[in-house]
Amino acid sequence: MSNEIFPENGSTDDDAILGRLAALREDDLSAKDGNAFAFIYDAGDEVNQLARKAFAAGMSGNGLDPTVYPSARRLENDLVGATLGHLRAPEEAVGTVTSGGTESVILAVKTARDYARSKRPEITEPNMLLPETAHASFQKAAHYLGVKAILVDVDPVTMEASMDDVRAKLDANTILLVGSAPSYAHGVIDPIAEMGALAQEKNLLLHVDACIGGWVLPFERDLGVKLPEFDFQVPGVTSMSVDLHKYGFTPKGISILAQRNRELRSAQYYSCATWSGYSIINPTIQGSKSLAPMTAAWAVIQRLGKSGYRELIGQAWKATEKFVEGVKAIDGIRVIGTPVMGLVAVTTEGGDVFELADRLTAAGWHVQPTYKFGNSPAHIHFSIDPHNAPKVGALLEDLKKATPGLPESEDAPGPVVQLLEAVAQGAGGMDTGAMMAEFGIKDGKLPSTQAPIHRLLNSCSPTAREKLLTLFLGEMFS
Ligand SMILES: *Cc1c(COP(=O)(O)O)cnc(C)c1O
Repeated sequence: MSNEIFPENGSTDDDAILGRLAALREDDLSAKDGNAFAFIYDAGDEVNQLARKAFAAGMSGNGLDPTVYPSARRLENDLVGATLGHLRAPEEAVGTVTSGGTESVILAVKTARDYARSKRPEITEPNMLLPETAHASFQKAAHYLGVKAILVDVDPVTMEASMDDVRAKLDANTILLVGSAPSYAHGVIDPIAEMGALAQEKNLLLHVDACIGGWVLPFERDLGVKLPEFDFQVPGVTSMSVDLHKYGFTPKGISILAQRNRELRSAQYYSCATWSGYSIINPTIQGSKSLAPMTAAWAVIQRLGKSGYRELIGQAWKATEKFVEGVKAIDGIRVIGTPVMGLVAVTTEGGDVFELADRLTAAGWHVQPTYKFGNSPAHIHFSIDPHNAPKVGALLEDLKKATPGLPESEDAPGPVVQLLEAVAQGAGGMDTGAMMAEFGIKDGKLPSTQAPIHRLLNSCSPTAREKLLTLFLGEMFS
C-alpha cells in the first residue's frame, strides 16, 4: 500500500486535503438517495448539520478523567438519564456511555461474569443462554471473556426464543439470560416477561439487548403500536443496551448500557493501581474516550425532542407496515416472523434468494443478503428508517418485478463446498488473493453479481464461513 498520505513535507493546502478526503468518500454508502435498506439510520440533513457541529465541539475532550473534563460527567449523566427514563428504569438504576452496541454487550457479559464471581464463586465455568437470533456480539463477548455461550432454539414461525429450550438448557453454571428487543435480523421481541420471571426464580441476571430497538419501541408504544413488555418494568431485567447511533440517529460511536443498580455496575467497572503511571478506573473498555459522539448525541436529542422522534419513528413504522403488507401480496416471497419495527427479513418460497438480492442491487437498491442459520432461512434483510421510508413504494414495485422467474434455490456444488471446507480447515496451498480474484472481488469490492459467492458461503458450515471471511478480510487490509 502506498504511503502518499505521509509525505516528507506536509502541505498547508487544507482545501486540497479535504477535497481528496471527499473524493475518497464518494463511493461509500450514503443517505443521499434513500436507496439503502441496511446500515443507515438517518434523520435528515438538518439534524446531521447540527450533529456535525456538535461532534466537532466534543473533539478535543477526553472522558477518561471526568474530574478534569467536568463536561464529560454532565454529558454522560444527561444521556444516561434520558435513556433510563425512556426505558422506565427504577430510581436506583444507573448507566454508562459506551462506544457502541458491541461494547455495551461485552460489558453486560463482563458484569454477569464478575458479579457471579463474587456471588456464586463455586461456578468455575460460567455460561449464558443465548437465543440463536441474539446479536453475534454476545458470542464475541463469550469468546473474549471466557463465558460459554449456549445457543437456544427459536420458534421457526415467530422467531421468538423458545422458553422450553431455555429451561432445558439452563444448568447450575448458568449466570446470564439474554433476550432481544427486538432482534436485528427479524425485528422480533423475545418473551422478556417470561425470561424475567425465570431469571428471578433461578437467581440469574437478564440482559435485554435493545441496541437497535430501545430508542424506537417506547415511541411506537406512544403511537399505539401493541408491543409485549421488554423494558425495566419487567422485574427480572437487570441490564439493557440501547444504541443512540442507530435509531437515535446520532453519529457513530455511542450506545448506553443501563444497569438496574449500582452494585451491578460495579461489576462492570475495571480499576488498576498496580503500575507506575496514573491509576485507572474505567467504566468501559476504552481508556481515552472521545467526547465527540456524546456532544453530538446530546445535541441531536435536544433538537428532535420526544415529538420529533415520535414523528420520525411514526414515518418509519408506517412505511414498515406498508412494506410488510406489500411483501405479503407478492407471490413467491414472504416475511419471516412479525417485525415490531423497521427490521424486516424477507425470504423466498423456493426461488433463489441471492439471485433476488442481485436483481434488487441491479435495480439500484442496497440490501443485506443473509445466510441461513438454525431455524432462520437465508433471507434478505431490510432496515427501514425515516430516510428510506419514502422509497418503500418504489422498492415494492421492484420486488414485484424481480420475484417472478427466479431460478430454484440450490446449494452450491458439493465438490466446491468440500474444497472450501478443506481450505477453511487449513488444508494449505490455497492462495486467498487468487481465490478472491476468482470470485470477482477486486480492490475490496464485491462484484455486482454476488449470488454465486453468497450461495457458496450459505452452503458452507458456519465454521468454514467464519474462516473464509477471516481470510478475505485479512486480504483486504495491508
Ligand atoms: C447493532 C446491534 C448490536 C451491535 O452494535 P454495534 O453498534 O454494531 O457494535 C447489538 N445488538 C443488536 C440487536 C444490534 O442490532
